Parts: sequence; structure tokens; C-alpha cells
Amino acid sequence: MKIIGLIGGMSWESTVTYYRLINEYVKSELGGLHSAKILMYSVDFAEIEECQASGDWDKSAEILGAAAMALQKAGADFIVICTNTMHKVVPAIEKQIRIPIIHIADATADALLNADIKTAALLGTKYTMLQEFYKERLEKHGITVLVPNDGDIETVNSVIYDELCRGIVSPFSREEYVRIIGDLKRLGAQGVILGCTEIGMLIDEKCSPLPVFDTTVIHAEKAADISLQEE
Ligand code: GLU
Repeated sequence: MKIIGLIGGMSWESTVTYYRLINEYVKSELGGLHSAKILMYSVDFAEIEECQASGDWDKSAEILGAAAMALQKAGADFIVICTNTMHKVVPAIEKQIRIPIIHIADATADALLNADIKTAALLGTKYTMLQEFYKERLEKHGITVLVPNDGDIETVNSVIYDELCRGIVSPFSREEYVRIIGDLKRLGAQGVILGCTEIGMLIDEKCSPLPVFDTTVIHAEKAADISLQEE
């Protein structure tokens, strides 16, 4: 079994889910008492969020690069970054390590294409929805990406930072998200990407007007699957 290097803590609410899902996958594949081999470097999210808010992506790349190097040194075979937003600095982290990073948008694009979905709604932080690093990566796989209008981008973003990353799950915010997903469905989306690793705490298949592609689940299962693959 390969050793998974998780960079977590962004926020820890969703890193808990990664840890559980990866272990459940390995247990269901191997049975018995089997569990995943995981090294985790969990950062202080307040430091990362400060970098995001001030636009200091270089500093966040240094912090996450140091985490990735530590995991490599400790014996990780590959890296999984447990947040969509911080994939913005993947190219800078890749320059600092020899082991591969399993990209969350590539795994998500594969899941969408397997479900025959070509046009997808994207919900995530304002950085993920507005900047190119994430949408471009999906578009390279032939996916057309729809994002909410400016007001709704603000709503989706503030629910992530003010509620979900603090462990708060509000029925009112769920209704707002459901409304926003419904609006994107009317614009032609065939599925919705939960493109922030905490959104699965709020939205699931039952309440969503569109089929759900939860990046946390997709990414965690991809990581677990790779850890079990033969060389
Ligand atoms: N976990 C979130 C994401 O997937 C947001 C936290 C962050 O900014 O890293 O984008």
C-alpha cells in the first residue's frame, strides 16, 4: 500500500471527512482490519486565510510547500491537498517536491465525464469561482463551467468562511445554496460541483436540484484508489 501525504487543516472540518472516507475505502476494498497508510500535515488555517485575503499567494505557497516537503521526507508516496482553493498554488508546490500531487480538479473532471456531464455549475470560494486556475483546469477536460452571479458568489463564499469552516451548518444557508443551484440549472448546468471541501456538510443529493459532484468524496476516493494500485 502506498503512503498518502495529506495536507489538511483548510479547514480541519473537511480534513476529518477525508481521513474517514479514505479509511472507509481501504476497508471496503481490503476488508478485515485494513486501514489506510496516511501521513498528515495539518496547517493553521488562520495563517492561510490571511494570505488569501491579502493576496499573498507566494507566502501560502511557501507554507504549503514546506508541508509537502516534510511529507515527502517522512515517506509519503504522493500528496493530496485537502482544499480546492489552495490548488491555485499547486504549480509552485510541484517545483519544491519530487512526488506527485493528485489534483482535485482532474479527479472531479473525470467523475463528471464518467457521468456524461459536459456543463457543470461550480460552487466554491470566491477565489475558486472567479479566478482561472480551477475553471481552466476543468475546461481543459472539455467541461463548460457555470458560476453564480456576483451577489450569489458573495453569499456562497461567506457561508464557507463564516459558517462551514467554523463547523456551523445553517438551514437558512442550505436554502440559499439550493436556490442558487436551481438558478444554475435553469442556465443549463447538468450537475453541480461542490468545489469547496466543506460544502458537503450543507448540500447532498437529496436536497440538491442537480446531481452532486462532491470534490471531497471524489478526491478522497481517488487518493485511496491510487494508494492501492500496483506500480
Ligand atoms: N476548503 C475550502 C476549499 O475547498 C475552502 C478553504 C480554503 O480556502 O482553503 O476551497
